[in-house]
Amino acid sequence: MSGTPRTPTITDALRARRLLAGHLPPTPMWSYPALNATTGATVLLKHENAQPTGAFKVRGGLTLMAGLDAAGRARGVVGYSTGNHAQSLAYAAARFDAPCVIVMPTGPNPAKAHAVRALGAELIEAGADLGEAAVHAGRIAAERGMRLVSAADEPELIAGVATAYLEVFDREPALDAVIVPVGGGSGAAAACLAAAALAPGCRVVAVQSAASPAAHDSWRSGGAQLRRPNRTRVEGLATGSGFELTQRILRDHLADFLLVDDDAIAGAQWTLMRDAHTLAEGAGAAALAALLAYPERFAGQRVAVMCTGGNASESEIRACSAVAA
Ligand SMILES: *Cc1c(COP(=O)(O)O)cnc(C)c1O
Repeated sequence: MSGTPRTPTITDALRARRLLAGHLPPTPMWSYPALNATTGATVLLKHENAQPTGAFKVRGGLTLMAGLDAAGRARGVVGYSTGNHAQSLAYAAARFDAPCVIVMPTGPNPAKAHAVRALGAELIEAGADLGEAAVHAGRIAAERGMRLVSAADEPELIAGVATAYLEVFDREPALDAVIVPVGGGSGAAAACLAAAALAPGCRVVAVQSAASPAAHDSWRSGGAQLRRPNRTRVEGLATGSGFELTQRILRDHLADFLLVDDDAIAGAQWTLMRDAHTLAEGAGAAALAALLAYPERFAGQRVAVMCTGGNASESEIRACSAVAA
């Protein structure tokens, strides 16, 4: 994408809610006494793992696709992703009868590749990592006249994702904090947008894996887009640099940014199974991991914890039971 993307507003989020109304019902948000006892806080667990694609990103994909005109839909979209962004775009394209190409780095997770093909998208394997896949995706978009969709620097994706936070604040206007896991930062930026308008007293707290701290370090530096090592095994959180648009929004509104290590995330996945009978993927458990790692910051408070996704692989599920043993 060329040029500086426009900053989405709360009006964009409200428009996205109207666009999504016919496609996605609100997801549940529950409190579990066992989880409250474990954390020492009143936790409201927002179940984005209950989305049809298993993750919150489908809100953004559908919003972007709904906003294209007939000609744009006929030309279709190209995305690059190893996981949930790919499924979101493929799902939205199928709903709107639009062509969709997904570029994944060679040798992708077979379950995720299968899910994307099952949704009817064309899957192309190219490049050794996501950066190389992105270059290839850009080339395909130019050749075929399709719309290239970035993973985070897209106002429509942030506006769509913000509808999750409209639901959170509608249900629970008096929250002390909402904790959001970060990869590219669209989820945390969306939370900031909604909180600033609807719940200014609620702190938005972001979380990243200490093994992939690019967004955290970028935010701490005041909003530069820093490159950092990207070694987390948690798929949705694996990014190597900060994104311009999301960093700009986080810089103005984010209250705090915490780091947790990958083993703590696996422990939180286990806690969600035990206390909330919920299967989260690693990224979907990272917000709870932050609450468990920094309990003094949230003690006695009402805290919304975003369970952003449930697409755990079989090996990931087996690894959590090892944590429990
Ligand atoms: C993509 C993703 C994240 C991170 O979201 P960003 O908007 O990229 O910061 C967190 N959890 C899950 C399950 C994801 O798929």
